[in-house]
Amino acid sequence: MENVDHAQANELFSAYWDDELAPEQASALEEHLRSCVVCRREYQTFEQAIGKLGNMHRMVAPSDFAVAVRKQINRRSKGRFFTPKRLAQRVPFEVLSLVMLGLVVAIYILLQFAQPSALKLP
Ligand SMILES: [Zn+2]
Repeated sequence: MENVDHAQANELFSAYWDDELAPEQASALEEHLRSCVVCRREYQTFEQAIGKLGNMHRMVAPSDFAVAVRKQINRRSKGRFFTPKRLAQRVPFEVLSLVMLGLVVAIYILLQFAQPSALKLP
């Protein structure tokens, strides 16, 4: 990427702030910011907004936070999400159909042997 336009520059702001841009992207953005007042001002606004967010009090999530969130979602969705799966739901249907097919073949073979009259003995 050699040149970035205004829209691209704006899209890169947050990644640039997080230091997640590839070196050539970062330098392309810096190049654009040097030459473009509009985007420079835009980026300053972005920086200020992020800076204010960063100053906000950080809270550490309790250790059971993820579990509690899952439970909450499960309750509020009336069990539509995060319901512990029953065995029938966990067995993949591909495996199930193969097992059924095997069973049918097994029964067929058993029936063949169970009918001596149908067997042609030499
Ligand atoms: Zn620009």
